[in-house]
Amino acid sequence: MSARILIVGAGLYGAVCARELHDAGHQVLVIEQRDAPGGNCVTRYVEEADCHEHMHGAHIFHTDSDRIWEYVNRFARFNSFVNRVKVQHAGQLYSFPINLFTLYQVFGVRTPAEARAAVARERVEIAQPANLEQHCLATVGPTLYRLFIEGYTRKQWRRSPAELPAEIIKRIPVRFDFDDNYFNDRHQGIPIGGYSALFDRLLAGVPVQCGIDFLPDARHWISRFDHVIYTGPIDAFFGHAHGALEYRSLRFERELLPTCDFQGNAVVNFTEAEVPWTRILEHRHFDRSSPGRRPGVQHTLITREYPADHGPGLEPYYPVGTEANRRRYERYRSLADEAFGGQVHFGGRLAEYRYFDMHQVIGAALAHVGRFTRGEWRTPAMPPARRIAHQG
Ligand code: UDP
Repeated sequence: MSARILIVGAGLYGAVCARELHDAGHQVLVIEQRDAPGGNCVTRYVEEADCHEHMHGAHIFHTDSDRIWEYVNRFARFNSFVNRVKVQHAGQLYSFPINLFTLYQVFGVRTPAEARAAVARERVEIAQPANLEQHCLATVGPTLYRLFIEGYTRKQWRRSPAELPAEIIKRIPVRFDFDDNYFNDRHQGIPIGGYSALFDRLLAGVPVQCGIDFLPDARHWISRFDHVIYTGPIDAFFGHAHGALEYRSLRFERELLPTCDFQGNAVVNFTEAEVPWTRILEHRHFDRSSPGRRPGVQHTLITREYPADHGPGLEPYYPVGTEANRRRYERYRSLADEAFGGQVHFGGRLAEYRYFDMHQVIGAALAHVGRFTRGEWRTPAMPPARRIAHQG
């Protein structure tokens, strides 16, 4: 049976749900607050530098799932970009994530066995590491922790690494061979033509209205649909009734430079606390494996990424995974389960308050569509008007 479905937000979660539910024969409408779909993945072509600018920080698609990789490849061709980050600290350059070449640069070791032995000597014995700092001291020891992790993490999260969960860092590998790929996943790349091209195809044929602020008229919108997928911040949906969930934000400083190549790499991290930015992106390198760069291009585009407190006018980029925030989120989650008789589904990074990678967002969106399609999603028992009257 065809349902009327409203999707609030045309980021990755919303766009995947829209594609799938539209193809399954439902009447889907997507509304988006910004002036274009794409969420934080959006890229735009910059003529002078002949490259795609990642407007909200580097978005490198990676996944270990064949299913998700095949899925995204239905909508875009991916280049063969592999993220090989470099670190600058106190004027020195290092290979990163930590690998045999990094360990050669720091400890002078040349073989995997020597590297393992060097790191084993460094490790601090901590029976049960309880936070990010302890986890790093226990796995790589103080020298590497101070060079690569401590300063960057303090800047990024504006907290001591001793107050942060170790999960934040566990995504970054430590290797004893020369593999310097930032990710462990088997599939990686960036859509040729940028993410906007991917979104154009994901949303092809689906009605999308941009520039629409959903929350002030939420009740009215919800009353017109059978099912609503809300992908905005969960605390904002409930008028911050339990207080605001904490986010870290970023400020981007872009510069078009009159040189062809500024830093020779897509991403350079600056891991000292004294340098105010965490990384510099040079966008042309994200496109490196795409066919032909236009001859005669004289400029390159770089972006300095500055961590920032989240506040008015800044985007909520990173959920802050402290215990207090988790507890607050659980209280919103309980409200969400009951909201509008279960007619509204909360999905995606902001609505689930999760530090999601793109492939995880797609997996979560497909899972929700699957539940909805199998009828495992609660269907409202009351007519819309009464349901809304019951809402607190
Ligand atoms: N991190 C670090 N040094 C680095 C890169 C990352 O200490 O050079 C830590 C930091 O705490 C960061 C976390 O690892 O927040 C995750 O890094 P990642 O690059 O995955 O973050 P994202 O790309 O999501 O900003």
